[in-house]
Amino acid sequence: MANKYTTVLFDADNTLLDFDKDENCALTRTMELYGVPVTEENIAAYVKINQGMWKALERGEITKPELKRTRFRKFFDAIGFETDADVFEVNEKYLSLLGEGGNTLTGAVDLCRELKEKGYDLYIVTNGIEKTQKNRLTKSGLLPYFTEIFVSETIGHQKPKKEYFDYVLSHIKEKDIGKIILVGDSLTSDIKGANQSGITCAWLNLKGQELTEEYKPDYVINDVREVREVLYEKQ
Ligand SMILES: [Mg+2]
Repeated sequence: MANKYTTVLFDADNTLLDFDKDENCALTRTMELYGVPVTEENIAAYVKINQGMWKALERGEITKPELKRTRFRKFFDAIGFETDADVFEVNEKYLSLLGEGGNTLTGAVDLCRELKEKGYDLYIVTNGIEKTQKNRLTKSGLLPYFTEIFVSETIGHQKPKKEYFDYVLSHIKEKDIGKIILVGDSLTSDIKGANQSGITCAWLNLKGQELTEEYKPDYVINDVREVREVLYEKQ
């Protein structure tokens, strides 16, 4: 292949999968199930707590089992919701509902099909929860285009840790790091991780975020379909 890159490492959530939509559906159904008032304020409170916990996980301050055990406790406390329900069980229910998701960003499936047809070797690099991510990727129709799915939970390290990317790099076919590109929406996990491991990266700036100096994406795109322009650019 005459292309500059042979291999694309795609983040999953909010890069190919529409996490916000899947999360909203699963959360709403979980709240209904346990009698939590479904209001915009309550949903926003959960999203904030959950995002904060995932950032803490990225920084290595908490573990994934802790996140699973405590996020609904924190959420219920924050909104003053009292229940006898076991918060671990609530989390398990939420995860099973999330696993029924699989909404994708516009054009994501077509893009992956096209890249696969053109001979690119595609992988998923995700910090999610193994079973949930695999279920969602299956439902989305994306799975057939990927050689392997690297879920942090299984590897024992998460993005942006170098150990996570060392594992990925040693398990993919391409051995020339210059032919590998990562595409992801998170500065703190995807771009930071790629920068630390010397992997070329494209930042999908989905939400009009400001780029600060500590992150060095090689490309910035605003829509995942623009990956074509990055990959097919004149060499
Ligand atoms: Mg993401």
